[in-house]
Amino acid sequence: MAPQYDAVIVGAGFGGMGAAIQLKRLGVDNLLILEREDDLGGTWHVNRYPGLAVDIASVTYSYSFEPNPYWSRLFAPGAELKRYADHVADKYDLRRHMRFGTVVDGAVWDDETRTWTVRIGAEQVTTRYLLTATGFLSQPKMPDIPGIDSFAGKVIHSTAWDDDYGLTGRRAAVIGTGATAVQLIPEVARKVAELTVYQRTPIWVTPKLDGRIPPLVQRLFATVPLAQRLARLVNTAMLEALMVVGVLHYRQARATNRGAERLARKHLRRQVPDPELRRKLTPDYSFGCKRPTFSNDYFPTFTKPHVHLETTSIERVEPDGIVTADGRKTEIDTLLLATGFDLWNTNFPAIEIIGREGRDLGKWWRDNRFQAYEGVTIPYFPNLICLNSPYSYSGLSYFTTIEAQMKHIKRLFGELRRRGATTFEVTQRANDEFLDRMTVKLGDSVFYLGDCSTARSYYFNQHGEAALLRAGSTIGTHRRAASFPLSDYAYQP
Ligand code: NAP
Repeated sequence: MAPQYDAVIVGAGFGGMGAAIQLKRLGVDNLLILEREDDLGGTWHVNRYPGLAVDIASVTYSYSFEPNPYWSRLFAPGAELKRYADHVADKYDLRRHMRFGTVVDGAVWDDETRTWTVRIGAEQVTTRYLLTATGFLSQPKMPDIPGIDSFAGKVIHSTAWDDDYGLTGRRAAVIGTGATAVQLIPEVARKVAELTVYQRTPIWVTPKLDGRIPPLVQRLFATVPLAQRLARLVNTAMLEALMVVGVLHYRQARATNRGAERLARKHLRRQVPDPELRRKLTPDYSFGCKRPTFSNDYFPTFTKPHVHLETTSIERVEPDGIVTADGRKTEIDTLLLATGFDLWNTNFPAIEIIGREGRDLGKWWRDNRFQAYEGVTIPYFPNLICLNSPYSYSGLSYFTTIEAQMKHIKRLFGELRRRGATTFEVTQRANDEFLDRMTVKLGDSVFYLGDCSTARSYYFNQHGEAALLRAGSTIGTHRRAASFPLSDYAYQP
């Protein structure tokens, strides 16, 4: 029996849309895109907190084949990213494939029919190929602080912003000081009467070279696309120096890492005169152990009289406030959670996936090591492209990863067509070699050579392995995606 669809993609964010664009270019048009939210755009649909903006320059944080000459700023606000996602969906005719408000429970491989059966509540759909694009940062993490459920005021997680809730005059607390909090805190501080920020681990912050893009430059980008391509190249090279050289090649280029750390320290010194406050805001782990961020208004916010940085750990939440380990209570009426996402327990994979011989991907990853060939395919899981896999994230801009994966899909599906085959499965040998290569190369990274023990970084999994980022340059990743040995896969007609 022919399956209902040639391909089912789970997730209508930029990753899922990139995969859909690639499949359509390859002539696969009978596809279904399932999305649990009520609209497309992934992160940029879900997140609407004040201050939301991309923190990778927009010339780079976009598809290279679909440049937008009209970004309003070097770092576009979140709403512009959502509009860009809508534009891409329209231009590449993706909307008609999408089904919103559809929570996928799981998928099972059937070896007889060589198809996947995807479970959506009581409904089932069958497909030849399954592509999961469920994101890395899509399962919000609620802090397990005693008493939090008893809080009588308003609680808002950064991924579920309540636009109708006014902040003016509130006594608010923010828990968390990651990249989200760095954007959120200055905006909240502008409105509330009192703000206490609960910091467990400080974050490295470097200056953000932001600004409006003048209409003249927008016109230049629109009329001379090469100019925007050059801007993208320059920005990508800077990110590459920071992330790939400074973090992944720490052994060979420690000086780059130290340079970035010095830049962040200088930024803090320039913005915060009080040495005690500076000490509290200075991380004690190496730059790059956890994702650094960029901001010009985060540090100065803490110098305002109504903003307080609390570094004593939280003991419990009471109906009207937060009590720290030293017994002090801060009374609040608004609790803002910038507590991030759960990658390693509820993601990887985000849905239940059962492959050949009943192998459960989530269980297998947890019982063995987290692994995926080239960050996309896994033995025992035929016809599955798992885009948010261990060792898949390459570079700092997510689009670097998305476009490398699009190239991998193109090469793999091209070979299927050449052979007249319909089934692929990565070989155990190729998978093992890739994992070995990543393990050896990551031995040069700051994750293992730097001081990361106090970083509490989501780059590390529950076994202490830095299994998220792909070791190597983004150019190397792209080259490999377009040239991996075709014999790394087994094919069946
Ligand atoms: P995050 O980096 O994981 O930060 C979560 C924060 O919450 C951390 O400071 C964490 O402290 C704290 N926290 C969590 N549970 C806690 C608890 N029980 N008690 C006290 N503190 C607790 O999450 P995020 O800030 O949402 O950022 C996630 C990622 O999203 C970023 O790294 C970035 O990749 C992406 N992001 C991107 C942009 C952009 O513009 N492109 C903007 C925002 C976010 P510990 O560190 O001590 O655990």
